[in-house]
Amino acid sequence: MHIIVIGGGITGLSAAWELQQRGIGYSLLEASDRWGGKVISQQIEFDNASFLVEGGPDTLITRKPEAWDLAKELGMLDQVVNPGSEMSGTYVLDNASLHPLPVSPTRFFSTPLLTLRGKLRMLAELFQPARRDDGDESLADFVRRRLGQEALDKFIGPVLGGIYNTDPEKQSIMVSSPVMREMEKDGGGLFLGALKRAFTGNKKKNTEKKPRFVSFKNGLQALTDELARQLTGDLRLNARVTSVMKKDGKYHVTLANGERLLADGVILATLAQQASALVKDMSAEASQRLGAMRQQNIGTLSLVYRESDIPEKPIVNGLMIPRREKRMIDAVTFTSRKMPERSSPGYAVVRVFIGGGSPEMVEFSDEKLIAAVKRELGELLGITADPQTWTAFRWECGFPQAEVGHLERVDEIEKFLPAGIALAGSSYRGIAVPDCIRQGREAAAKIVASLRGGLVPPKQS
Ligand SMILES: Cc1cc2nc3c(=O)[nH]c(=O)nc-3n(C[C@H](O)[C@H](O)[C@H](O)COP(=O)(O)OP(=O)(O)OC[C@H]3O[C@@H](n4cnc5c(N)ncnc54)[C@H](O)[C@@H]3O)c2cc1C
Repeated sequence: MHIIVIGGGITGLSAAWELQQRGIGYSLLEASDRWGGKVISQQIEFDNASFLVEGGPDTLITRKPEAWDLAKELGMLDQVVNPGSEMSGTYVLDNASLHPLPVSPTRFFSTPLLTLRGKLRMLAELFQPARRDDGDESLADFVRRRLGQEALDKFIGPVLGGIYNTDPEKQSIMVSSPVMREMEKDGGGLFLGALKRAFTGNKKKNTEKKPRFVSFKNGLQALTDELARQLTGDLRLNARVTSVMKKDGKYHVTLANGERLLADGVILATLAQQASALVKDMSAEASQRLGAMRQQNIGTLSLVYRESDIPEKPIVNGLMIPRREKRMIDAVTFTSRKMPERSSPGYAVVRVFIGGGSPEMVEFSDEKLIAAVKRELGELLGITADPQTWTAFRWECGFPQAEVGHLERVDEIEKFLPAGIALAGSSYRGIAVPDCIRQGREAAAKIVASLRGGLVPPKQS
């Protein structure tokens, strides 16, 4: 049996890893000249100082165990670092002013961000009836229902909208934050559900001790680099696939250079738009439905400043910018405060997120981009100096949007594809890196099982 995995981001690498564990032959085909896709860490050298920056993801949540488990399988736990999950120093922009996120009880009661009525409504979450079915709804509807409109507008909406680079009114809760619905279902609400989890979590014995979030000493790319290093199958970079066809019981995979490969099964570990083009000749219906899934522009800039060029007050570790504020940037993180070991003394590293509120920013020339970001940082945070150096990462239509009903739509699309084809990755059943690892591995297991007509246990080492 030979399986072809298309796409060498974390999803495709994880699928290949799972195939390797099961003793199945595979080819992993990646269009670009590097492994990892959006997982990209870069060392910036400047004036005898060095800085480690992340272009895409920078932290992994361990509540979803897949990244931790994979790091353990790869023997990388000694490289894991704890970036902390401290939210203090995180601000939200409201009516052009900065407000600390009310994450502690004292902050919550004293913040002018919410009115008394808004705060009471949030506290009344305890008494809201619980929804216990598995039907989808938007993030906004969920937050409004449990915590009220003000919590959505001023606090939770900006945070979740920022994390998912999305409009909370459209985003599916079952894709973005199913844990919140689980807490409601199991515990009766968010407060009660959190209490219940804390209690049962404490009672669990022999559970591995993990930080809430993790990264790796040399950046997240250490994970994808190590995966690629330990994969022993047919691995090809600069191998863009142009079509996948099924003929005489085999899959015919054509590359941009004209080469044709044969396989018993194919895992499509690319974004939906790219998968749409690949399956066009095999299933017009699946192709059309994949093509209809929306993807948003996204990008990040890491800017290195002299520490003395950063205003002393307020000490901002992060800033969330709701779309209603109509700014050109979406969020700011002070990387050098979050992970000082990645910076050099005397410097500050600021990471700026773009592409949500002003999608056109991702298509700007370098000159226009840095001018716009400088203007925003000046107006919002009083940083008026020029950065000493900077680097940008841009992904046009690179961030999938999972709208209400998304999971059902993905299930439907799969019905239009033959049994030996699987979809996996950020466009489908969760966007975070652990979700992508899970999907890659599940796709591999599913395809092997469907080709063998039963479940195949992983190979014993
Ligand atoms: C700015 C940013 C910040 C993020 N922050 C976090 C975070 O902190 N934590 C977290 O868990 N997640 C985060 N994410 C989400 C996470 O990084 C992504 O969802 C995940 O890395 C996607 O992995 P993937 O392998 O599915 O897709 P990709 O990384 O997009 O990889 C797909 C690969 O397929 C290749 N490809 C496409 N078409 C073809 C073809 N025709 N032939 C061959 N190859 C092809 C592409 O070149 C690409 O390498 C972030 C994402 C971004 C953009």
